[in-house]
Amino acid sequence: MKILLSNDDGYQAPGIVALYEAIKDLGDVEVVAPEHNNSAKSNALTLHSPLYVHLAGNGFRYVNGTPADCVHVALTGLLGYRPDLVVSGINNGANMGDDTIYSGTVGAAMEGYLFGISAIAFSQTQKGWAHLDAAARKARELVQQMLANPAPAPQPWLLNVNIPTLPYDELKPFKICRLGRRHAAEKVISQTSPHGDVMYWIGGAGPAKDDAEGTDFHATAQGHVSITPLKVDLTDHEQLRHWTVTADRLARPAGVGN
Ligand code: MN
Repeated sequence: MKILLSNDDGYQAPGIVALYEAIKDLGDVEVVAPEHNNSAKSNALTLHSPLYVHLAGNGFRYVNGTPADCVHVALTGLLGYRPDLVVSGINNGANMGDDTIYSGTVGAAMEGYLFGISAIAFSQTQKGWAHLDAAARKARELVQQMLANPAPAPQPWLLNVNIPTLPYDELKPFKICRLGRRHAAEKVISQTSPHGDVMYWIGGAGPAKDDAEGTDFHATAQGHVSITPLKVDLTDHEQLRHWTVTADRLARPAGVGN
């Protein structure tokens, strides 16, 4: 089995080092990860500056780009082969609910999925790397299971996994969840620079708006490891009919009535 491992916190982050150590004996694991922290870069690709790949002393390769850049470059030439699985993480902090849209951790996994390769994104629910050993052990269990029992569907799959920041013995079983929702983010924070310019810091994410049973927020709050299968189709299928009717009405000549 060939596994491509990436993340968004950068190739030196404790999360990717721990995940590499946890899964390295499950197959041929190669790391291609951002040089610096690229959290919240989502699916961004770098199109207007060149990307350089360097080899670190521990064998990890790092790129002066985004998480999606790393996986894109790896899959379109750098590796020279097609991995069986793309794994991303372990992220420093949760990627649940609407945060998933912004997540570079999910973005790296999604880039693999867009190339037709199944992928898993792992995050710890709290920042700070407490109980990282437990999270890495749980991540290994899931990767091992997925490699041993590949999904019967012919399509690739994309899983978003959030692991509560708890000791291993307190982690409850995997739970399949939908994404919750968040309130709008906190206010932007403005400061004045030493040169007198006003500068802005993006504020924190808002509290959960929908953390009902069945969501990732709910499951992880109970100590479960949440697994949300993701898809990329952004079409609002339920609204297609409504907008078809609206478009027909707009297309009628004025004065004909409706
Ligand atoms: Mn991150």
